[in-house]
Amino acid sequence: MKVCLFDIDGTLINTGKAGKDAMVAAFLQAAELTQIEHDLHLSGKTDRGIFGELFEQHGKSVSEENWQHFIDLYLAGLEKNLPLRQGTVLPGVTPLLAQLSERDDVLLGLLTGNVARGAELKLTHYGINHYFSFGGFGDVHAHRNNVAQAALEAALTHHGQAISPRDVYVIGDTPNDIICAQAIGAQSIAVATGVFSVEQLRQHSPDLLVSDLADLKSISSFILN
Ligand SMILES: [Mg+2]
Repeated sequence: MKVCLFDIDGTLINTGKAGKDAMVAAFLQAAELTQIEHDLHLSGKTDRGIFGELFEQHGKSVSEENWQHFIDLYLAGLEKNLPLRQGTVLPGVTPLLAQLSERDDVLLGLLTGNVARGAELKLTHYGINHYFSFGGFGDVHAHRNNVAQAALEAALTHHGQAISPRDVYVIGDTPNDIICAQAIGAQSIAVATGVFSVEQLRQHSPDLLVSDLADLKSISSFILN
C-alpha cells in the first residue's frame, strides 16, 4: 500500500491570502493590538506554532485560553474570507487526486500545519475535501515533524495494517515539508508552487522535485514505480 500525504497551502491550493489575513486579524483581536510588529511568515509552519510565535513575540501569554480564542476568531474569519478572495486549486492537482483516488493500492491523506477544521474549510471551498479521509494537522503540534508522525499514525489506523515508511510520500512546497518527510523515513516530493523556488527546494534534497503537479506522468510513475 502506498500513502500520499499532501500539504495544503502552496501545494494543493492558494487561498489568495484568505488564511493569512484571517490569522493576522484573529491575532490582533485576541491579543488586543492594532498592528503586528514582525513580518509574518506562515509557509511550512503549523497553526499552533504560528500562534506560539506571534503571542510570544508580542509579550502575550501562550495559554490554552488564548489559543482557543485565537483559533475560534481565525476560523470565523477564514470562512468569511474564502469566498471573497481570488484563490485557486493549483495546476495538476485535481487530475492527480482523481487519478490516485481511483487506485486501490494508494491512500490519500493530509499532512498540514492547518488545524483540522481550517483544512476542512479550505478544501471544501475548493471542492477537493472528499479526496481525503485522514491526516495530521496543526491543532496540537508546533513542529511539523510531529505532525508528520501523527499523519503516519493516522494512515496506519486508517489502513489497519503495517505500512512501510518508504511507501509514504510527503508532497509539499516548503523545506519543512521535505525535512518532516525525512524525519519519518518517508519520501518527499517537493513542488515549487508556493513561495520557495525549485533552486531553494533543491538544497534540501527532496526525492523528487517538480515545478508544479501538472506533470502527472512523472509524479504518478514516481509514486507507483
Ligand atoms: Mg505549504
